Amino acid sequence: MRKETKAIHTPFQKRDAYGSLSFPVYNTAAYEFDSAQAMTEAFSGRVPEPDYSRVMNPTVTYFENRVKELSGADNVFAMGTGMAAILNTLLVFAEAGKTIVTSNHLFGNTYALITQTLGRLGVKAQVADLTDTETLDKTIASDACLIFAEYITNPQLEVVDIEKLAEVAHKHGLPLIVDTTAVPFTEIDARKLGIDVEVLSSTKYISGGATSLGGLILDFGTFDEVNKRIRYEFLFNLGTYMTPQVAYMQTLGLETLDVRYRKQAQNALDLAHALQELPQIKRVNYPGLSEDKPMGAMLTIDLESEQKCLDFLNHLKLIRRATNLFDNKSLAIHPYSTIFVNFTPEEKKEMDVFDTTIRLSMGLEDVRDLTDDIKQALG
Ligand SMILES: *Cc1c(COP(=O)(O)O)cnc(C)c1O
Repeated sequence: MRKETKAIHTPFQKRDAYGSLSFPVYNTAAYEFDSAQAMTEAFSGRVPEPDYSRVMNPTVTYFENRVKELSGADNVFAMGTGMAAILNTLLVFAEAGKTIVTSNHLFGNTYALITQTLGRLGVKAQVADLTDTETLDKTIASDACLIFAEYITNPQLEVVDIEKLAEVAHKHGLPLIVDTTAVPFTEIDARKLGIDVEVLSSTKYISGGATSLGGLILDFGTFDEVNKRIRYEFLFNLGTYMTPQVAYMQTLGLETLDVRYRKQAQNALDLAHALQELPQIKRVNYPGLSEDKPMGAMLTIDLESEQKCLDFLNHLKLIRRATNLFDNKSLAIHPYSTIFVNFTPEEKKEMDVFDTTIRLSMGLEDVRDLTDDIKQALG
C-alpha cells in the first residue's frame, strides 16, 4: 500500500466487538484482568496488554501504529505535547555534566528547555552553527551526548543539511535528534537521511483543525536506549503520554494529512510569489522559493518596522492573529513580541529573531483571498 492508503487503512490491534469502522475511544484509566496471572503478565510487559492509561491505552496505541506504518520507524511514542516528546527524547541521552549540541536557530521553548530547564540540572549546551558541519566536526564538545536540530527552523526558516549533520554525529558516536514539525513526517525519509530519533509536534499538521495538542517520537532503532528508557521508565515516571481523546482526533487528522499538506504548501508557494511583488514588503522568506517548489506551509515577511508589523496584524480581516502552525485557517504572528517575548533583545539578535518579521502559517483557503487580505492590511 502507498502512504495515502496506509494512512486510512491500518488495521486495528483487535477486531472491535461491534465492528466499529472508526477506532473506539477507550476512555478509561484502568483495565480489568481475568486472573492474577494475567495481571502479572501484563505488568511485567511480557504481553502487550494495557493495565493503566498513563503507560498504554488502545486508542493511543492505534494512533502510534498508524504513524509507525507511515514512517517505517521501529518504535513510535505519542505524547501529550511536542515539548513532552522533545523532553523525553533529550532525557534518554542527557545527564549532568554532558553537553547537548544544538543551534540558536531553534523553537523558543526548546531553546529554553535546553539552556534553562536542563541547564539547572547540570546539562550543558553547545550552541553551534549546524549548517557549518566542517567546523562543527572540529569543535564538537568532548562530552557531547547528542546533536539536536530542526529540519526547517522556526521562525528563521533555515534548512540544515541533515545527511551531513548525521555524518558528523555518527562519526562522534552521537545520536542525531531532529525536530521535523515544519514539514509532515510523511514527506521525509528520516531513516535514509540518518536521523536516529525524529520528534515533532502533532499539534500542527496532524491535528489539522487545531483540535488538540500532541507530540510524537519516532525511534529508528539505532540506539537501543531510546525504546528502553521511554517505554519502561519515562512513560511510568514522567506521565507525559497522550490521552485517548487526543489520539482519536489526531488519527482522524492523519487520514487527511496528505491532501491538506499539498494544498497548504502550494498556498504558501503561491502566496510567497504574490507577496514578492508588493513594495511594502522588504523580504519574503520561504524555503521553496529558490527552487520554485512547495516546502512546508510557513513563510515570513519583513516589513519596514515593528510598528508596521503591529499595524499590519491589526488590519488583517481573514488571516487570524494566533500562534500555532498549519491549522486549516491561515494564521499570522509577530514572533519577536510574542513567542520570544521573554528573551532579551540581545538573545533575540543572536537567534536571528527580528522585530520586523511576521510569520505566516498557510491554511486551506483560496490563496487569492489570502493575498487580498494581506494587500488590504498593508494598505
Ligand atoms: C510548536 C512546536 C513545538 C512544540 O510543540 P507543542 O505541541 O506546542 O508542545 C516544538 N517544535 C517546533 C518546531 C514547534 O513548532
